[in-house]
Amino acid sequence: MSNRSITLTDELYDYLLGASLREDDLLRQLREETASHPLAVMQISPEQGQFMALLAHLMGARRTLEIGVFTGYSALVVALALPPEGRIIACDVSEEYTAVARRYWRQAGVADKIDLRIGPAVETLDRLIEDGQTESFDLAFIDADKNEYDAYYERALVLVRRGGLIAIDNVLWSGTVIDTTDTDEAVVSIRALNAKLRDDERVHLSMLPLGDGLTLAMKR
Ligand code: SAM
Ligand code: CA
Repeated sequence: MSNRSITLTDELYDYLLGASLREDDLLRQLREETASHPLAVMQISPEQGQFMALLAHLMGARRTLEIGVFTGYSALVVALALPPEGRIIACDVSEEYTAVARRYWRQAGVADKIDLRIGPAVETLDRLIEDGQTESFDLAFIDADKNEYDAYYERALVLVRRGGLIAIDNVLWSGTVIDTTDTDEAVVSIRALNAKLRDDERVHLSMLPLGDGLTLAMKR
């Protein structure tokens, strides 16, 4: 027995999936199709998707932000958890990756719930703020380019309501956050945001060793 987060061997990970994963058929197909993509590791894991769906249910989320869509797995899993009137504003720069996402959203019958905005996410989020959508979102998932993480966090904090949640992905960045000799721009950016969040009084905080590290920050 251990009172720290357990190390997952391949066998234990398989057990975890077998014991708990309830993946919709289309989500599984999307994961299988994305597996052959050279950037397949960008996709969230299925158990993380299920956790995010649980969060959406728990919060009774109706309006969410998705920052970094890729082939659409995280947006799809959240869309399936939203009520019929639920809406996601999804940001990405790639028409190519999101063409796959759109196809699956249509097949799953959730295309009407997802408003995809192609363009730099900082600009999309700034426009939402200018349009008066401050404090109107329940949940924001940050998973686009890591260099802009702080900019995404600050804007998400404006756009989510009090009691709303910001989930930030890849906060352990394959473990490289502890290698201080690693000065890659992405890891420096993630490390800086992690350090800032540690003492950020504007949020309640939890950093989970789920997937590649997932921070949950709840707006106070
Ligand atoms: N959440 C996705 C999933 O579950 O499959 C994975 C997202 S992937 C890690 C990151 C995405 O961010 C890519 O699709 C990329 O095109 C997008 N991206 C990169 N730079 C961006 C920017 N400046 N604004 C918006 N999206 C960006
Ligand atoms: Ca990610």
